[in-house]
Amino acid sequence: MLKTSDILDEKEPILHKVCDEVVFPLSKDDKKSIKDIYEYLRLSQDEEKAEKLGLRAGMGMAFPQIGKLKRIFVISYKTEEGDFIEYTVINPKIESYSNEMVYVEEGEGCLSVNREVEGIVPRRARITVTFFDEDGNQRTERVREEIAIAFQHEIDHLNGIMFTDRIDKNDPFKDKDKMRSI
Ligand code: ZN
Repeated sequence: MLKTSDILDEKEPILHKVCDEVVFPLSKDDKKSIKDIYEYLRLSQDEEKAEKLGLRAGMGMAFPQIGKLKRIFVISYKTEEGDFIEYTVINPKIESYSNEMVYVEEGEGCLSVNREVEGIVPRRARITVTFFDEDGNQRTERVREEIAIAFQHEIDHLNGIMFTDRIDKNDPFKDKDKMRSI
């Protein structure tokens, strides 16, 4: 099982590198990592279990965060009803996006960033993404709101970009009035 200490910190150089495209079929090792990430993310969103196991709550994790320079990430988002919206995303490409911009009101978080970060991370409210699933099938999805933000955050990881890189250093709340908070 993946432990919180297995997740790399933002200081690690691998988190600032561009990841490699994935060639199919996936290796056993990569499939295992995907399973491990799902397990971590699901448990981490259950307050009791997370506390017991020492997990930080998260809804997304990219391969570079566990030390693998590959274009793979996993989203596991627990809705208010307790269902999970989940995606395994490999070699993603953003095909189009809305002009409308949004940001996370309480600030974006990342399992690799263990400090308080102030400021706005501008994101597209809706994006259309083409990617491959675990079995190598191509999919196209239109995602919005929280899920769209999660996709953009994780795609950034595959390009070595941290959410903190997207906050204006001189004016962390720049253009706040031009965006909708969610
Ligand atoms: Zn992150």
